[in-house]
Amino acid sequence: MALLVQKYGGTSVGSVERIEAVADRVLKHKQQGDDIIVVVSAMSGETNRLIGLAKSIQAAPDAREMDVLLSTGEQVTIALLSMALMQRGLQAKSYTGSQVRITTDSAHGKARIQDIDTESMRADLDDGKVLVVAGFQGADELGNITTLGRGGSDTTGVALAAALKADECQIYTDVDGVYTTDPRVVDSARRLEKITFEEMLEMASLGSKVLQIRSVEFAGKYQVPLRVLSSFVEGEGTLITTDGEVSMEQPAVSGIAFNRDEAKLTLKGVPDVPGVASKILGPVSDANIEVDMIVQNVSMDGTTDFTFTVHRNDYDKALKVLDLVAKALKAKEVLSDDKIAKVSIVGVGMRSHAGVATSMFKALAEESINIQLISTSEIKVSVIIDEKYMELAVRALHSAFKLNEPNAGVCEA
Ligand code: ADP
Ligand code: ASP
Ligand code: MG
Repeated sequence: MALLVQKYGGTSVGSVERIEAVADRVLKHKQQGDDIIVVVSAMSGETNRLIGLAKSIQAAPDAREMDVLLSTGEQVTIALLSMALMQRGLQAKSYTGSQVRITTDSAHGKARIQDIDTESMRADLDDGKVLVVAGFQGADELGNITTLGRGGSDTTGVALAAALKADECQIYTDVDGVYTTDPRVVDSARRLEKITFEEMLEMASLGSKVLQIRSVEFAGKYQVPLRVLSSFVEGEGTLITTDGEVSMEQPAVSGIAFNRDEAKLTLKGVPDVPGVASKILGPVSDANIEVDMIVQNVSMDGTTDFTFTVHRNDYDKALKVLDLVAKALKAKEVLSDDKIAKVSIVGVGMRSHAGVATSMFKALAEESINIQLISTSEIKVSVIIDEKYMELAVRALHSAFKLNEPNAGVCEA
């Protein structure tokens, strides 16, 4: 007998029929003798609908009230699924995040889980009940409802699995696992049987929204066995695992991630003197804007160009800050571009394969795609390119590294 946490995303509970299908799946596992905690998202589209309602009343909605509002999406699905389980003769009980006592900090909209009280859930499990927990939410120490950021039900699932020492956390979604890249963009993308936590964390951070970043961090930290599967078809899905368990012949590249979430800003002709980087980025971070890539060019005539990227939501704010900085530093001009995309290749195998970045650049050059910025780490190479070439770049890299073939990922460029 196993203790399983099963998380079902928005599409998987997007209609009464889908909720009935989830109930059938839970029944099957329960009949096999497993104890089950189900974590559900809001029905697909619901969170966006609620955000739209809020913005139609208050352009920048109050953060506390926004969380009160958004948490209702998940409250609907826990009740409906519990009813569907009861209809199947199971004992079921719904829990909102605060009823579980998922305690978070008070950062509305991006709260972090600090503690989970497992006592009441344990007692209910011992009674044979299936527990149905609302994802994406908790409450701070004062009882204010908080939410965990978009996609946060994944994190609720993993956190509950860690707190209850579950045998596995199963993330059921609308694709049957983690693919070499988003299967909606590349038809020949291939499901991975396994991927390391490290790689999954990079993929999630670099734009693969199949798992929320924090859920992967949490699973890595607490060693939660994590699997991504389809709620529509049966299958093994993808196991997120530790380094040693992945095949010895690890390919250089395991997957390709991409996103359109960034914007690029350049300050041209700033004096090339010590302290200039902090004079530019200090005011940016004081304005609470996170910076991703940073590039400073070589000096020409005692001046240099300084480029960095920010989240596209912060673009206008960053531009205003930079205009002021440009005046203060007597820079020549400010250039900006929010029509960029970041494309990244990810793989722990890069540690032992040379020339991976070169192969990437060659594949992009063959498609005449110009690279604007590059950043690397031990297990990833990211490039910024014109947004309009994003899908072409992803497809070109997917075939250059032969990711559609089993045991692929090595480019013979
Ligand atoms: P849910 O509502 O179940 O949480 P999400 O939409 O958050 O589902 O995540 C699933 C989606 O993630 C898929 O439909 C797919 O388009 C996207 N995705 C992006 N990158 C990948 C990848 N590498 N492998 C699988 N799916 C991916
Ligand atoms: N309903 C929330 C969202 O749409 C949380 C989730 O689905 O994980 O982001
Ligand atoms: Mg999701």
